[in-house]
Amino acid sequence: MSGSILIKGAYIVTANDKNEIIKGGDVYIDDGQIVEVGKGIKERAEHVIDGKDKLVMPGLINTHVHLAQGILRGLVPDNVALIEWLKDWVWPLQGNIDEEIMEVSTKLTLLEMINTGTSSFVATSINARYGTERVIEEVYKSGVRAAIGKQIMDIPGYADKPQILHKGLIEDPDLSLKIFNEMHSRWHGKDNRMWIWFSPRTPGAVSDELYRKIGEIVREKDSGVTMHLAEVRDDIRYFSGRGTTPGRFVRDLGMVGRKFVYVHGVWLNEEDMDIFARTGTTVSHNPSSNSKLGSGIAPVRAMIARGVNVALGTDGGPSNDSYDMVREMRLALLLQKVNSLDPTAIDVLTAVRMATRNGAFAMGIEDLVGQIKPGMRADIAVFNMRAPHLMPSVNPLSNLIYSGQGSDCTDLIVDGRFLKMSGKVLTINEEEVYEKANKYAEELLRRAELKSWM
Ligand SMILES: [Zn+2]
Repeated sequence: MSGSILIKGAYIVTANDKNEIIKGGDVYIDDGQIVEVGKGIKERAEHVIDGKDKLVMPGLINTHVHLAQGILRGLVPDNVALIEWLKDWVWPLQGNIDEEIMEVSTKLTLLEMINTGTSSFVATSINARYGTERVIEEVYKSGVRAAIGKQIMDIPGYADKPQILHKGLIEDPDLSLKIFNEMHSRWHGKDNRMWIWFSPRTPGAVSDELYRKIGEIVREKDSGVTMHLAEVRDDIRYFSGRGTTPGRFVRDLGMVGRKFVYVHGVWLNEEDMDIFARTGTTVSHNPSSNSKLGSGIAPVRAMIARGVNVALGTDGGPSNDSYDMVREMRLALLLQKVNSLDPTAIDVLTAVRMATRNGAFAMGIEDLVGQIKPGMRADIAVFNMRAPHLMPSVNPLSNLIYSGQGSDCTDLIVDGRFLKMSGKVLTINEEEVYEKANKYAEELLRRAELKSWM
C-alpha cells in the first residue's frame, strides 16, 4: 500500500541536525515522500497510524549483512576461532548453497530485517553460485533499499594463510567482473532502491592489481565497495608483513573515499583512522559478531572523535546470530562504556546516528533517507512502546535502545510503502520461508558432511 500516510501524536526521533525529538508529533507522507513533520498536522490521509505509545524513527540501516548466512543460524559451534570457524564450518556450508537454498536464506534474512525495522542494507560477499540475479530480484521485491556487493577474488587464501577457501566458493575474477557489469547495467540506481557494489575478499585473497582495478571501476561507475578489514588481531600480521597497515594498504590501492565501507576495523590504528576520516571512508561496526568471535572491541569512540563515519552492521547468522539493529545499538553502547571504564564514552543519540544517518552516508544516500525531515523519502520505522519491558514511557528512546528489540517494530514504511503493517510483514510469505529454512538447513549440513554440534 502506498499513497498518503499520517502518523499522529507519536514520539518522533527525527535524527536531524539538531537531534530533535518531537513529543506528540505528526508525520505526513505523500507519494513516498515526507511532506510535513510537526504538531497538529491537519492533512487527511488514506492511512492513519495512531501514534499513542509509539516511537517513530528513521528506518534502520544495516551496513553489513550476509544474505547467505541467514540459513546458517545455529549451525556453527560457538567455541571455535575465526579461521577454523570459516574453514571447517561457514565456508563448507556456504560452498554447498545453490540458488534454491540461497533464495530461502535471502528471504529469511529479509523477513527478519523488515520485521525488526531495517529499511536499507549493504549485502556482502554475493558469490556467483548463489544466483546473483535471483538474489537481487528477491531483495527488490521485498521493498527495501540495498547495495548488493558482488564478491570478487583472485587468490583462494585468507590474510597470510594460503589456499583455505572451500572449493565451492572459488570464483574466477573474470566471471565476477562480467556478472558485476551485467548486474550494474540492469539494476544500479533502479528506483533509487538498488545499487550494485563490489565486495572483494579480504587482503590476502585479492591481488593488488585486482584491488586497483576495482577502485577504478567503482569510481567510473559511481558504485561502492564493502570489504572485511582488520577484523581479528592476526589479520594485522598480513599488513605488517608487507610493511603497511590496513588503512595505508587500502589508501595506496586507491580504495578509500565515499561508498567505501570497511567492516569491523577492530584493529585499526590512529593513522588508519585519520586516513578514513580525511577521505570520508566508512567503518561498519559489528559489535555482536566481534564479541561472539572474540575479535576484540573496535575503537569506536576514538574513530568518532577523529571524524570517521562509523555505521552499524549485524554481520551474519553464525556470528551474531541475529539481524536485529536495535540489539546491535545496545551492544555498541555497552562495549564502548565498559571498554573505557567510562559511562560517558558514548550516548544513545550517537548509537541512533550510527544506525541511521551514518549508514545512509555509507551507502551514499544521505540526501534520500536517514532522517525524518520534509523532502526526504519516507523510510520510517514505528515501534510499540506499550509493553512491560518498555515502560514507563518517560524516555521512550532510551527504553527502546537499552531494553527493546527490533521486533517491537509494528510498522515499517520504505519509500512510502508499508513493508510491515500492524505487526505483520506484508512482502514475504513467512510460513513458506520457515518450512523451507528448516528443510534446507538440514540439507546443507548433509551436503557439507557436517553434523549438528549440539
Ligand atoms: Zn561479515
